[in-house]
Amino acid sequence: AVVEEDKVYLRALFDYTPFEDKATPCQEAGLPFKRGDLLQVVSQEDATWWQAKRVGDSNLRAGLIPSTQFQERYQENTEGDYVNRGFELTSLRRSFRLRRDRQGSPGEPQTPDANHTDFLIYEEVTHYLPRPGERPRLIVLIGSLGARVTELKQKVITENPRRYGLAVPHTTRARKGHEREGVEYHFITKAAFESDIQNGKFIEYGEYKDNLYGTSLESIHRVLDQNKVCLVDVQPEALKTLRTSEFKPYVIFVRPHICDEQLGSSSSLNLGISEEDLHELKQSAERMDKSYGHWVDYVLVKEDPVSALAELQVLLDRVQMEPQWVPGSWLR
Ligand code: 5GP
Repeated sequence: AVVEEDKVYLRALFDYTPFEDKATPCQEAGLPFKRGDLLQVVSQEDATWWQAKRVGDSNLRAGLIPSTQFQERYQENTEGDYVNRGFELTSLRRSFRLRRDRQGSPGEPQTPDANHTDFLIYEEVTHYLPRPGERPRLIVLIGSLGARVTELKQKVITENPRRYGLAVPHTTRARKGHEREGVEYHFITKAAFESDIQNGKFIEYGEYKDNLYGTSLESIHRVLDQNKVCLVDVQPEALKTLRTSEFKPYVIFVRPHICDEQLGSSSSLNLGISEEDLHELKQSAERMDKSYGHWVDYVLVKEDPVSALAELQVLLDRVQMEPQWVPGSWLR
């Protein structure tokens, strides 16, 4: 799509279905969109209904979308009745809480959000490509259950260590024979880890098989300072710290491929995964999407490790060579 510089572009942070909307002046004139869609605003003259087109849509006719102000009022008044506009109350609440947390943390740069409202409505976006010599964007991988993101990340780095760097995590687990301090991990004691948590050293941490693992801000800076592309796989909560103009993160959500035929059929048995586990994988991916989908730039559906790696590598090249949509506030 051609990006016109004088135009306003918005990323939708909610689903809009005009034919379910009783407030719209004319249902046929409404522009349906899904959370994550990019909209080019044609007119914001009316305070209630804006005119917009979907980016990449061959349909040249603009349609009506609710203005931020109008949608905000709607969301305020319909708490508990989000079904009308395809809202998922729990996800909205969760994101809402995240936003509140974020506002509460001191010394944080201004966070880009839905035109400064407390609801997830639109985010103004613009095209961005780092200039030569400018620091590369941070690559954030988040994965739902079964996606095995850590392996994927390590493979990308191993295949091109001059371009990609690992933000070396801290762990309390014992070092294995082949591992070196500061290469695979920083190996520290549980007491040291807990004190680091207290001191706010980690942007995220988690427990796996009775051991603690965490990523520090310092480890990310160390990679970026070498002018390498830094890949991190973190808990999605870390996005509240990382989603800033400093890092300009490109967020990739990796989810395992689960076809519906596998659910409720005997074929799942052939894969050695129980139907129950498949359901859990599916639910984990859905939960992630509901809570963090509006921050995701790309969804990588992982069918097998080889094709997923190839797709990721193509994607990473693209992020470095082609402009991508980022919040306008990152560039101001
Ligand atoms: P391993 O002990 O086999 O090296 O790693 C086990 C698991 O620890 C990984 O699969 C990954 O899920 C988790 N892990 C590794 N690094 C980090 C990290 O920085 N943060 C979090 N939350 N988990 C990590």
